[in-house]
Amino acid sequence: MIRGRTETVLLVWLVATVVTVALTPAVAAATAPDTPVLDTSTTPSTTASLSSSLGSPAETPQTAVHVAREGDTLRYTVTVETAGADALWLYVDPDVTVVETDGVQALDGHRVPTYRATGETTRIVVERELPRAPRTTTGAEYLATDDWALGPVPYLRVTWQTDGHTETTAPFEDGRITTEDPAAVGEKFLLYGDHEIYSRTANGQTFHLVAPAGTGLDAPAVLDTYASVSARLAVGDRDTAVRVFALPPPARGGGEAFIRSDEAWVNAGSPMDSANNVWIHEYVHTRQEFRLTGEMAWFTEASAEYYAARLAYEEGHISQAEYEAYVSRPGFEGAALGDRDTWASQRVPYVAGVRTLAELDERIRDSSGGERSLDDVFRMMNEHEGEVSYEEFTTFVARAAGEDHSAWLDERVQAGDGSNTPFPFDGPVDSPARALSDAIYAGRGVLPGVLALAGLAAGPLLFGYRRRE
Ligand SMILES: [Zn+2]
Repeated sequence: MIRGRTETVLLVWLVATVVTVALTPAVAAATAPDTPVLDTSTTPSTTASLSSSLGSPAETPQTAVHVAREGDTLRYTVTVETAGADALWLYVDPDVTVVETDGVQALDGHRVPTYRATGETTRIVVERELPRAPRTTTGAEYLATDDWALGPVPYLRVTWQTDGHTETTAPFEDGRITTEDPAAVGEKFLLYGDHEIYSRTANGQTFHLVAPAGTGLDAPAVLDTYASVSARLAVGDRDTAVRVFALPPPARGGGEAFIRSDEAWVNAGSPMDSANNVWIHEYVHTRQEFRLTGEMAWFTEASAEYYAARLAYEEGHISQAEYEAYVSRPGFEGAALGDRDTWASQRVPYVAGVRTLAELDERIRDSSGGERSLDDVFRMMNEHEGEVSYEEFTTFVARAAGEDHSAWLDERVQAGDGSNTPFPFDGPVDSPARALSDAIYAGRGVLPGVLALAGLAAGPLLFGYRRRE
């Protein structure tokens, strides 16, 4: 999200732009492309369910991707050996330009560009031109400079049939990737050019901080913060790897995250001693596993922004006064959080939403005698099957608090009658629930399990330094 001095609208078109693949008749399933998704996404992940096996696995075609930079354009050359498959299709990201094909036939009538293999070896070359200036509209941020380029990892799926069995693979995840020059390849972002990778493992998570060479990043300070807030934020969804690309100018202020991929970029100059803490904000997004109904969509940004300030305070990066001033700042008192039509600005979740969560957190702490907090609600949301509705949210709040707060919540989420007013702090801001929440979390056996996986965290990821062999 764009934060700080420059601000822009949230990405409200996301859900609408998830493309339904117009399937080739013989193909049972293919996932929609992961349209570049800003940190405002409530879009379900499409990365985890690639396989469409209808029986025993067929022999896997060999796939390879080679990436090269030409001017401000990244060129991705994809080759697929069809391995005797009876039929094979390639689904290509609509946001890249196909400039060359070999051994494939383009099929018409598909919203996702679709190609059918006609030979044993197929090749598709796609390109993406990157801008020199930060974008001023919504959409994932990509940039080219003389020294480095941040580009996308394009959506690409290969589906094949052998003896009636259908399988799908993702060459950027399962294939061999080479690059002409040094590059760091994540799930969604590809940093092309000389770079540094700083890594730290804590609480079952490995944090990878990637920056173009010469960025002048205080990486240990960022990793210290991630290692610490990872433990403090006891809300579940501690996935094993988090990747953050730290970008120097001309990257704009702020950052953005791909929630399902636990991947983000952050402006490398973002201050750590700020309530408007972009480093923590984007990290909180990576802990958001929940899916939300429309009337709860505000919670995605509100919770990232609230916890960024809260954790910055608990980490000692900001004072209590700074924390209180930030989370109770005025604005948008007439907005109903659950009704976007009442919003005067896309900033409503960052201001009125944060205010609501700050007060709600205090209410839960007070109601529960300091034993529960908003963390518990967040965790229940993460663990919930299916979308979290507003009604379910109020149920989770009641469960955490031990008493019903829905009348108060209704005024802020549904009424839009001006009652969403600044929160008057009337006592010390404490954080007694953290240790208990962590204890509960560990006691449930989740944390030890995650810790046990720590050593495996970075292994299977397509990430790191690759050069042409
Ligand atoms: Zn955000």
